[in-house]
Formats: sequence, C-alpha cells, structure tokens
Amino acid sequence: MDNPTFRHWAHEFADWMADYFEQVAQYPVKPRMQPGDIKKQLPAAPPELPEAFVQQFEDFKNIILPGMTHWQHPQFFAYFPASRSAPSVLGEMLTAALGAQCMIWYTSPAAEELEDRCMEWLRDMLALPSDWTGCIQETASAASLVALLMARERASRYGVNQSGFYQQPRMRVYASGQVHSSVVKGLKIAGYGEDNLVTIPSDEAFALQPDLLEAAIREDLRQGYLPVCAVAALGSTSSTAIDPIRAMGEICKKYGLFFHVDAAYAGTALVLPEMRWMADGLEYADSFVVNPHKWMFTNFDCTAFFVRDVSLLKNTFSILPEYLKTPLDQQVNNYRDWGIQLGRRFRALKLWFVIRTYGVEGIRERIREHIRIGQWLDATIRQSDDFEVLAPTPLNLVCFRYRPAEVRDEAALNALNEKLLLALNDSGEILLTQTKLGGKYALRLVAGRAETRQEDVAQGWERIQDTARSLPLTP
Ligand code: PLP
Repeated sequence: MDNPTFRHWAHEFADWMADYFEQVAQYPVKPRMQPGDIKKQLPAAPPELPEAFVQQFEDFKNIILPGMTHWQHPQFFAYFPASRSAPSVLGEMLTAALGAQCMIWYTSPAAEELEDRCMEWLRDMLALPSDWTGCIQETASAASLVALLMARERASRYGVNQSGFYQQPRMRVYASGQVHSSVVKGLKIAGYGEDNLVTIPSDEAFALQPDLLEAAIREDLRQGYLPVCAVAALGSTSSTAIDPIRAMGEICKKYGLFFHVDAAYAGTALVLPEMRWMADGLEYADSFVVNPHKWMFTNFDCTAFFVRDVSLLKNTFSILPEYLKTPLDQQVNNYRDWGIQLGRRFRALKLWFVIRTYGVEGIRERIREHIRIGQWLDATIRQSDDFEVLAPTPLNLVCFRYRPAEVRDEAALNALNEKLLLALNDSGEILLTQTKLGGKYALRLVAGRAETRQEDVAQGWERIQDTARSLPLTP
C-alpha cells in the first residue's frame, strides 16, 4: 500500500470510527450467531494475489462487524467493561503507526520514560504508597503470575529459578474462594500446583475471613509446609467483594508471606478519596494490580502493576544475553526484566492521552457517577417486590435475582434466573453475565463504561423486569 492510499484509508477509517462511536446503539449488543457462521464466510486459503483494500473494508463491514459483540453498546452490562475512549483510540493509532518494539530503554527511550512517568502519576492518583514502583503488564492475569513468581523466588531465595523445585518444601498460597481464576492459573504455571492453593472461607459479604487465614497458615506450618503468599481481592469478580487488606497484611507480615492485592477492576475507584477505605492497610502489600483497561477508559491492554521491592522483581526475571546488552543498562529501566515477555508494545501513550484528556478530576467525576448509578440501581432493586440483591454493592456492580412470591425453592429459583439471563441475552437488546453467590444464581450488572448514563441502566432495569415477569414460572 503506497502512502497516498494509506492516507485515503486512514481518513476513511477515522470517519467510520467516529460514526461507529455515534451509532453503536443501533447494533444488537450480541450477535445472534451459531459457531462457524463467520468462518464459513472466510475463504479456506489466503489470497495468492493482492486484493483491493476497498473489498477488504467491505468484508469487515459485511462479515466481521455482524459477528461482533458490541462492548461499547449502552446496554452492555456484562463481565467487567473493556474500556474505550476517543483519546485512547488515538493513542493506539499512534502506537501502531510508530511500530516500535519497546523492550528496553535503548529500543525506545520515550516509551520507557513515559511509562515510568505515567506509573508515577497513577500511583499518586490512586494514593498508593509513594515508595512503590510500577510498570505496565499486558493483563492482570500476567501481573498476578509475576507476583506469584516473585513470591516463589523470595521464599526460595531464587532457588527455584536456579534449580527448580528440587529439595524445596511444599509451598502454599492462600486466598478466598472469590479470588479470580487467573490466580489459580498462575499457581499452575508457576509450579506451585493447584492443590497448594488454600481456600479461606469468606464471610456473608464474600470477603476473606482473616482469622481463618491465620489458622490455615498455622496448620500448614504444623504440617511442615511453607506458607509463601496470600492474595487479596480488592473487588472480586463475582461481586466486587473487598477482602480485609489491613488484617491480611498484618498476618502476612507476622508469618513472612508475600502479599499480593488484585484490584484489577475496583482499584480505579481509589482515585476517589471517599473510596480509599477499601485499601486501608495497603502499605503491607508487596504487589498490587489495577487495570486501566477495565475502568480507566484506556483500551485493552493496559495493566498497571506496582511492587514494593523492585529489585526482587528484576532479580526474578532478569536475564542478559549478549545481544541485548547496551552501554546504558545500569542507568535505565529495561522493562524486559520486569515481567514475562521480552517484546513490549508502547502502551503508556494511550494512558497518557487518557489522563491528560480527562484530567484527574474528569476521571474522578466519571467514576463517582458510575458508583452513584450502581448505588441507585441497588436501592431500586431493594425496593422491588419480586427481585432481591444478593451481595453488598460497594461500587457499580449489582448482583441480584428474580424472586417472585410463587417460587421459593432454591433450585427452581436458580433455573428461573438462568432462563431469565438467556432470554435477556438472546434478545440482542442487552447483555449481562451471571455468577453464583452462596449457591444462588445471580445476575451481574456493571455500570462502568466511559459513557454509561443512568438512563441506560434504567432502561436495562425496565427490560429485565419486563422479561422476568413474562417468563412462565413452571419449568
Ligand atoms: N482479577 C480480577 C479481579 C478480574 O476481575 C479479572 C478479570 O475480570 C482479572 C483479574 C483478569 O484480568 P485480565 O483480563 O486483565 O487478565
């Protein structure tokens, strides 16, 4: 593609993107598709000869777009949001245009120094301890794996890095049953083994019970195991439950455990002084993860990972082959030593644009508004005769179920709510997801896209009630 043609299409795409921003509500939130519907429209073999770009763009619009779930649709309330905002998209465009590989300072000094500065900004915006150091990881899953590897190496004095698990005691990791599945995956990858995740029961608010954490650590010590790490959920995926950070931190300190805090979604709320109660005791943590790509209006992927001891992080991951040596290695941050991957995208650019375009106060306003909408929905559902809220709503995720007076059996209620979710999601008009809380099937509604307004949530809530009340109550 020559440059004039590129210029033409870049303008066309910019127009298409701006139209899409305006018109996303016209699409079904989730396409009505069967597996294979898209693939069968794609040729089995790649083109031998060049194809016109106009045809490629047509195929995007006619084949790909109808097969997309529209995460920025005003009636998308599922999972946790995938952020998108105009400044972030513009940042992604420049990142792609630069085409830089930002693995070390030498390969892109500005990428390294902007990331460094943006992580300082973010640390201060969220009122994290001022001696923490941050870097961008691709996902919270990767960041939690990095934390588990740091914990392993701290406990074994880099013995596992050197010799594997040979002659190591059995290492144990502790978390509540509400911890994100990425931690379980991390345990498998890091070699602890899933059996060495000790699940600590939660209380009625789905938060970890610290006295039971301490009891579990003591029992493991009695059995000759090595307690290595505890993971707190600061905003669990199911219900944004907040584990007691201070109590867990004090126990970790007492028994010498590494303490990782997963605030992938809820961490953004720390931008609000009134929400910092959630992080009371955070100074005890060894590492902390928050995803600007979930709730800080920055496109996927952008995960901020903060550590207390950056030399532990670097010693866990650093490897220096001849071909990566540079004359300035002692003076700069080489982020290839701060995680798993060598190659790195320039991800700080979009975050920089987001923070500067909204301003910290603009971000605060949006987050505060989302929380207000969440509280409004929680209160509205609590006033309803035939719906109930199933977990505390500290932020903007509400977990609830339909509970008509005629149905009291728990299994029947679970089946009814499963049917309700299917009916809603199959309509193409709205998208929610589900969880189980204390064995109860719950619908989750998250109000956290950059543009989410109360009227969108009110409209969704009307639709949920209408659909529920039209369902037959017998199986
Ligand atoms: N931690 C929590 C609490 C989450 O809710 C999620 C995803 O929703 C993750 C971790 C994993 O996030 P990522 O997709 O960035 O790996």
